[in-house]
Amino acid sequence: MSEPVSRYSRGRSLEPSGTLAGVSVDARRASVRSRLEQVIYSPANYWIMLVVDLAGAAAFLALGVRLFEGDHTVAALAVGTGLVSWSGLEYAVHRWVLHGAPSVVQRTHARHHREPAALISAPLLLSTSIAFGLWAALCVPLTAGTAAFAMFGLYAGYNGYVVLHHIQHHYPALVPLVPGLRALERAHLVHHQRYIVNYGVTSTWWDHVFASDAEPGRLRRARAERRQAAVPVLHVASSLGGTDRQDGTAHATSQ
Ligand SMILES: [Zn+2]
Ligand SMILES: [Zn+2]
Repeated sequence: MSEPVSRYSRGRSLEPSGTLAGVSVDARRASVRSRLEQVIYSPANYWIMLVVDLAGAAAFLALGVRLFEGDHTVAALAVGTGLVSWSGLEYAVHRWVLHGAPSVVQRTHARHHREPAALISAPLLLSTSIAFGLWAALCVPLTAGTAAFAMFGLYAGYNGYVVLHHIQHHYPALVPLVPGLRALERAHLVHHQRYIVNYGVTSTWWDHVFASDAEPGRLRRARAERRQAAVPVLHVASSLGGTDRQDGTAHATSQ
């Protein structure tokens, strides 16, 4: 994906120019960006963060158990709210950040679309730092224990996203073993094909809310309907005994 120039050229013109210790500012920024991207594309970073994020969610669960005092219903509600909040955050980040304005993360996500099997992850400790920062912020309106349970739900949702996305791209044979995962896998496959639909990975709720959903059956039906609209009426009438719009629907629901 080429980097747009017009929208950001004004900002660039305001940046300090010249050299620092014989190295141009642009060259230094490019070097930092390149090192950051090296970490993001590193398989070691990917595997370490998988373990660290699981440990982070477990740490919030332990904190919640230790600090929470109150009704178990409130604790369960906090965990559930965190989980649902993750699905919204996942949609928002995927749609408006990873597919948003040009940035390092937008570029790395574009690379995931080009190379779906590549091991690409947020840089070391970024998600952990954000999670603990969010917990500190939540401790202002909530008790520390309630905030910890809410963060456990949110972080568990993030881990669910990471693990599910890994399974979809690396172990698709496992998908049919868990009810509901096949529909999510199909939706994600369509996302990789069409890029601007089906941003949800662990759920499809927000795609329905923001009308960005496109499930395979619906796409095929839409294509079949467009083909039907393009075919002369007499030809449609003669083909109704064989392959026709009914057939299009049958194909759409058979996979
Ligand atoms: Zn993917
Ligand atoms: Zn994407």
